[in-house]
Amino acid sequence: MAGTPDKIILKSPALIEYIFQTNAYPREHEQLKELREATVKNYDKISLMSVPVDEGQLLSMLLKVMNAKKTIEVGVFTGYSLLTTALALPAHGNIIAIDTNREAYDFGMEFIKKAGVDHKINFIHSDASSVLNGLINDEKEVGTFDFAFVDANKEEYEKYHEQLVKLVKIGGVMAYDNTLWFGSVAETCEEFKQNSYDHHDLLMKIRNVIRDFNTFTANDPCIESSLVSIGDGLTLCRRLY
Ligand code: SAH
Ligand code: CA
Repeated sequence: MAGTPDKIILKSPALIEYIFQTNAYPREHEQLKELREATVKNYDKISLMSVPVDEGQLLSMLLKVMNAKKTIEVGVFTGYSLLTTALALPAHGNIIAIDTNREAYDFGMEFIKKAGVDHKINFIHSDASSVLNGLINDEKEVGTFDFAFVDANKEEYEKYHEQLVKLVKIGGVMAYDNTLWFGSVAETCEEFKQNSYDHHDLLMKIRNVIRDFNTFTANDPCIESSLVSIGDGLTLCRRLY
């Protein structure tokens, strides 16, 4: 959703363009740029699912500041956030990346390989929840991940959180994408209807799920959280105990 000219959460489309042009594009890794452009060309409108370049750079900085080595990604698509993560981790870093769509992942692999970071990725073609359950049942994995990025099925965010809080170590971070849902979380149902988005009913349902999730993360005592207004909204949660 993020980046849709008429649905961005910043004050104006010119402002996001300013951020991209002034700060983000000049620092975008060559392979990320190629992947972004190829994704737009091949996937047209749904390429908007990729995290925008400024958000990618925030994630990259966060991973480096944390000295993250072992991460999980739920929802890969063509791999913009995955390649961002792989580039940010040290040479021996490892990412478990999960998606029900292998075709999009394969599409992005060319760019990940060119960037020389494919060895850090363990892609699992599956529904995320069952993979997370499998990891929880493996004692060696529990509480060992530094970071998790969640950008798949929004209706399962709360369930993913319950699972990830067991897998991420104390002090580790879980990041949830699209938590402002193109600004609709702050609209009344009436306003949402008047804005007549395409796929209204589905978007409305997800808006409600995200609103519940935002209330949930704001009150979960196991974490501290920050809802960052970047991209389409990014909630950062740090495990406390
Ligand atoms: N983070 C990606 C964008 C992910 S888009 C990027 O920056 O490019 C959301 C992805 O979630 C889609 O590829 C979709 O196939 C995947 N997805 C949806 N439901 C899922 C589920 N239940 N388990 C795993 N992946 C799922
Ligand atoms: Ca997203």
